[in-house]
Amino acid sequence: MSKSVLCTCEDVTLDDVRHAIDKGYRDIESIKRYTGFGTGVCQGKSCLSAVARTLAERTGASPGAVLPFTPRPPLHPVEMSLLGSVPVDEQRPPAGGVPPVIQVGSHALRPPEPVPEKTRVVIIGGGIMGLALAHNLAKLGCTDVLVLERGYLCAGASGRNGGGVRMQWSTPTNIELARRSIELMKQFAGEMGINVWLRQGGYLFLARTEEMAERLRTSAELHNKHGVKTQILSPGEGRDVVPELTMKGVVACAYHPDDGVIFPWPFLWGYAQAAQKRGVRVETFTTVTGFEVSGGRVRAVETDRGRIACETVVLAAGAWSPEVAKLAGVELPNAPHRHEILSTEPLKPFLTPLVSVLDSGLYFSQSMRGEIVGGMGDPREPAGLNQGSTLRFLSRFSRALTEQVPRLGHIKVLRQWAGCYDVTPDNNPVLGHTPGLPNMLQMSGFVGHGFMMAPAVSERMAAWMVSDTQDDLFTRFDLDRFRTGRLERETMIIG
Ligand SMILES: Cc1cc2nc3c(=O)[nH]c(=O)nc-3n(C[C@H](O)[C@H](O)[C@H](O)COP(=O)(O)OP(=O)(O)OC[C@H]3O[C@@H](n4cnc5c(N)ncnc54)[C@H](O)[C@@H]3O)c2cc1C
Repeated sequence: MSKSVLCTCEDVTLDDVRHAIDKGYRDIESIKRYTGFGTGVCQGKSCLSAVARTLAERTGASPGAVLPFTPRPPLHPVEMSLLGSVPVDEQRPPAGGVPPVIQVGSHALRPPEPVPEKTRVVIIGGGIMGLALAHNLAKLGCTDVLVLERGYLCAGASGRNGGGVRMQWSTPTNIELARRSIELMKQFAGEMGINVWLRQGGYLFLARTEEMAERLRTSAELHNKHGVKTQILSPGEGRDVVPELTMKGVVACAYHPDDGVIFPWPFLWGYAQAAQKRGVRVETFTTVTGFEVSGGRVRAVETDRGRIACETVVLAAGAWSPEVAKLAGVELPNAPHRHEILSTEPLKPFLTPLVSVLDSGLYFSQSMRGEIVGGMGDPREPAGLNQGSTLRFLSRFSRALTEQVPRLGHIKVLRQWAGCYDVTPDNNPVLGHTPGLPNMLQMSGFVGHGFMMAPAVSERMAAWMVSDTQDDLFTRFDLDRFRTGRLERETMIIG
């Protein structure tokens, strides 16, 4: 056993890295997420090369095959108060930002053997939706399933989100889905044998206008009807929940103590490992490039590693779903929108709930490691598959956060990143059959809340696929609703 420390910031040893590689985390991004190396103050400057060398030695890969992880700005830790002083032109759309290195396609560490020639179900996208569905299908005995992911697991929105899980929604469907998801999350660690750090510290929504306060009150009434005990609090009562909040400009709060935060990466890996244990194949670094369609059905999926004949294909490619659907001639109404997020240096625990200002789209929580993790939507963000990071976001977020919690002004931001919300016209997903192509099933459009919906939606979708019984979720949210105007708008959207 080696006690050599490779990452001094996060105390990651050579042995930890070897263990991760042996467990199947065979690219630098995945090793970073599994061990935590490179996530501390130095952001990998002192350990990246040592981990890369260990990976190359252990796998026999050529040094050129081992790609570094995406460097995360800022270059050095910077105080919130300084970042908040950077001027921002609120009228101008954000510029492109620093583009991440996306390690997809011809990755040299992917398995040498070809993809199978045929399978019953192909799931496109190894995000939370695709993997949770694969797990639930396998649980019901349908194990001839292949998940295709063009990058590493966690490459998409599922590896980039804030992990917030809440029952506070504006429609009965979403309240019920979220409630079931949280129930399943509570059983997850026991059932899957992986710690997902679920912490039910509640969600505290703040409204800064009377209009938003009214939205909170209306939603809370609906929650209470569905047995979700959301309370409407005065600003003073909200401050009792988080004494560090200034409540400056706050009109009303909504608080539900059973909401919380889950750590995204092990949640995703837990589903992947459980599915694989039951016989599902998960092929990473494998890109879907086209479809073979004839007689009104998808006959095969084409990839950069070969053709796979299938009976059913599920499109779960998140924000990339429209471009993948287009390969089969299918138009989706979804539009990707970048959403930026950051993490600070760790602080002593003080923040129990996730706090969100509904008007501005600011949200923040404190992780189990003590970091403040938070994001904020930008009303000027144009549609596009952009995952770059901007100084504009750092400035807007820091200003909004320190206005609400002034004592965080001296806290340093360690890293920022971005992902894409997969936005639909009514903020609800696209599920079920594709008109004109019935064996292509849709599973996308989860905006900024897919992570928390995945357990419940995938459970129902697997049951619906396997038994072919009716479930109104898959007609209520089908693709055809955008043509017929049968929309059901969700309004409790952050950002
Ligand atoms: C910054 C941010 C914060 C968020 N916060 C929250 C939150 O607090 N709570 C919450 O519930 N949700 C949150 N979300 C939303 C949530 O992350 C998403 O709704 C959810 O992860 C979507 O999962 P998915 O599986 O549909 O998509 P993804 O996780 O994006 O997975 C799709 C996968 O498809 C792959 N793919 C794309 N094209 C191809 C191809 N041609 N071939 C093969 N594979 C392909 C991609 O690489 C990707 O890995 C947040 C999102 C962001 C960006």
